[in-house]
Amino acid sequence: MDPVGVDPRWEAFAPFHDYLLTAFPLVHSTLTLTKVNTYGLWYTWTGKDTSKKPLLLAAHQDVVPVHPDTVDEWIHPPYSGFYDGQRIWGRGSSDDKSGLIGILSTIETLISNGFQPSRTIVLSFGFDEEASGVYGAQALSEALTQAYGADAFALIVDEGAGFMEQYGTIFATPGIAEKGYLDTRVEVTAAGGHSSIPPPHTSIGILASLLVEFESNPYDSHLERTNPVYGTLQCFAEHAESLPSGIRKAIKKSVSSKKALKKLEEEVFKDKMYKSLIGTTQAIDLIGGGVKTNALPELAWAVVNHRISTTSSIDATKEHDTKLLSSLAKKFNLTYHAFGERISEADAPSSGTLTLTDAWGTALRPAPITPTSGSEAAAFRLLSGTIKATFNSHRSLKGDNIAISPGIMSGNTDTRYYWNLSKHIFRYNHHNQGNSSNVLGGVHTVNESLDIDAFLEMVRFFTTLILNADEATNL
Ligand SMILES: [Zn+2]
Repeated sequence: MDPVGVDPRWEAFAPFHDYLLTAFPLVHSTLTLTKVNTYGLWYTWTGKDTSKKPLLLAAHQDVVPVHPDTVDEWIHPPYSGFYDGQRIWGRGSSDDKSGLIGILSTIETLISNGFQPSRTIVLSFGFDEEASGVYGAQALSEALTQAYGADAFALIVDEGAGFMEQYGTIFATPGIAEKGYLDTRVEVTAAGGHSSIPPPHTSIGILASLLVEFESNPYDSHLERTNPVYGTLQCFAEHAESLPSGIRKAIKKSVSSKKALKKLEEEVFKDKMYKSLIGTTQAIDLIGGGVKTNALPELAWAVVNHRISTTSSIDATKEHDTKLLSSLAKKFNLTYHAFGERISEADAPSSGTLTLTDAWGTALRPAPITPTSGSEAAAFRLLSGTIKATFNSHRSLKGDNIAISPGIMSGNTDTRYYWNLSKHIFRYNHHNQGNSSNVLGGVHTVNESLDIDAFLEMVRFFTTLILNADEATNL
């Protein structure tokens, strides 16, 4: 989309802002609201003690579209917000209006109960998270950095993973890391001409060889002890009731034994999901080339999407791709440039070119990892305690019925722009991610809906979080 003010579709947020004004009168008469890039919402509830680092709560206003062909499949219309007495129906009911409305409901209620924060509370609501947050969270981040400076927030909580049963135990897995991102564009040019007198390889044929080379050589990935997933496994070993005992032993042994770590890696990599979360991935997602069957294609290209391991980097990924294709570049006599550098010798003969680039300049390094142990982990402990208190007090169960484990996000949230604002970033929605309970459904597809009781528990979570952060002296 074009920028705000140019593309009229952004104007959809103006009536939403009007709605918020009427729905949350106390929020709007008590907090300061600054609009950033027209539709970004930055609320400040200034605390009595401004020497305390503020708490930042984030959510996004936008939603993914509803495909017109699927409207008939919705039990209640996708933009109705229909409440049937048990569930709220509609696009955004889970992702992420529940977060935004949950936060504002919490604050409205706290104000009406006479609460005044000691620690300042800042709310940051972007409006294009589903389109990478370029106009929303990016602008909000600049405004917040200008106002508060770097590393100014005690902790940040944005949307993310929730809790669900795994191996017989309920685990909450707040995201403490995000993988990096690189789209490598592979472009081959070769001489054009009439198709009746072809060379042995056209640009399309060469590109095909290069792409096969990618798929024949997947990234070598390893389970390292510094990977957040390793932390998740440690929590499983400690708390998951029905974890097979062989795996439990392997996890525990792997702390000190390299051999056990290798065995554990083998076991864990049998699950495609874990393997993808741990390593750098590649997926050839786009391809183009050729215009007509009687014309030799002068250009052929493809884009390989990478999600970079938290233990790797953009540079290592670029280097890997560059090296991977160098022997084929030689074989096909191509002048080879990769990420702005010439790889082939200057005077080498050439029958074409191979160029690798960051396709849209959108490379993103893996997010800094939020500390979860030692003296740096006060924020993680505060969040963990908050999750436990919320979960346990909301159910008529005895004792502690939820374990908290660090998690990793396979994608990115708006927090990609917030790294400099705090070392303590958590991507977490206090809701049940498990399918069986059906409290949460239809995210990014038809029949998105949210159980009202689950929503109320989210409000309880935000309330507990604010009260706990307000009292904490070690953040
Ligand atoms: Zn979302």
